[in-house]
Amino acid sequence: MSDLLITHVDVLTADGIKKNHAIAIDNGYITSILSVEEASTLKSSAKEVLNGKGQLAAPGLINTHTHIAMGLFRNYADDLELMEWLETAIWPTEAKLNDNYVKYGTQLGIAEMLRSGTTTFSDMYFFMNTTAEVVKETGIRAVLSRGLAGVSPTADQALVENADLFRTWHGFDNDRIKVLLGPHAPYTCPDAYLEKVIALSHDLNAGIHMHLSETKGEVENVVKATGKTPIAHMHELGLFWNTTLAAHCVHVTDEDMDIMAEHNVAVAHNPQSNLKLASGIAPIPEMISKGITVGLGTDGSASNNNADMLEEVRLAATLHKARLYDPKAIPAQVAWNMGTVEGAKALGYHDLGILAEGYRADIVLYDVSGMHWMPRYNDLAALVYSANSADANTTIVAGKVLMKDRELLTIDEEKLRAEIKKAEQFFVS
Ligand SMILES: [Zn+2]
Repeated sequence: MSDLLITHVDVLTADGIKKNHAIAIDNGYITSILSVEEASTLKSSAKEVLNGKGQLAAPGLINTHTHIAMGLFRNYADDLELMEWLETAIWPTEAKLNDNYVKYGTQLGIAEMLRSGTTTFSDMYFFMNTTAEVVKETGIRAVLSRGLAGVSPTADQALVENADLFRTWHGFDNDRIKVLLGPHAPYTCPDAYLEKVIALSHDLNAGIHMHLSETKGEVENVVKATGKTPIAHMHELGLFWNTTLAAHCVHVTDEDMDIMAEHNVAVAHNPQSNLKLASGIAPIPEMISKGITVGLGTDGSASNNNADMLEEVRLAATLHKARLYDPKAIPAQVAWNMGTVEGAKALGYHDLGILAEGYRADIVLYDVSGMHWMPRYNDLAALVYSANSADANTTIVAGKVLMKDRELLTIDEEKLRAEIKKAEQFFVS
């Protein structure tokens, strides 16, 4: 018996497309991918049957780096470098946030992600207990970290909150929610504070999510203060003892990359954010050739204004070709893997991001009827180079249908729109 059976669908597997197949799902996992004929016997016993005719089933996209409630501030202040953007626009506005705004800002981000084919996100922000509640209610998968800034007056309280978040939510619903510690960045976390974070990570056996080596200025300041790059300095402090998700890593040396490869430091590559904030282009093909796990993120939805992962996949596939004058620098399959299975690994999931038996049933059905899907020589290339994220028609997380025929089933969109209107008026006042 299956909880859910998707029939008559083209399935993107790791070994290519299986045309007109069926996917059987039980207890949140894919139990088999089979021919429509084989599936016909399962139909009568399945609790729910979805006809996938005219659609392409693909693994949900994994957004490895977000500040999701910051969608409230998208298009609020743009065309600034990171530090100016933070100091003059974002930090003063964030000071006006509360649980209510974070609740609807998070719902907004989740609605946007489910609508654009993303089924997992890894977030660093505050009011994270509220974020976790919204994740629980909406059914999406998330890895949450409380942003920790040692320079903030609430620095020690934030550590307590991150520890509480971990104890309350880590492992929730068969790992639908996981928790990391979120030291924000070298420029907001002095060494003495990082030592407290590291001690807490040992107490809880928790992984780390941190912005590292994002801008030239950050690297120069750390080198000036310590004689070491941010990566080498964090390594020396002992931050990398467990698992680390490092966002950006734009300005890294060969030695940095060796440290990362050796100490299980995975990268959240956010190409659009790095371009828009004029931070630079991370040496991703070089990292991959050293065996570093690289996922993709939007760093959104504020610094790059959206949480559209298909855009990041496309940028990953194109940007590095131009930088290295090499059309094979990141082939379509590698970019797609970064947006799916490699991102999953970066978040510690080893049974997510591929449509195969035994993998978690986080699945997106794309409507392939648009003109931009014709002709259909290669569906993987279409997803990477020509699809539109609005083609996502049905979104499934842990075997549960969260969006069906473009209708969100766990979010009241009308109410959400009204609440975001209210927030908009509040933040400009
Ligand atoms: Zn970020």
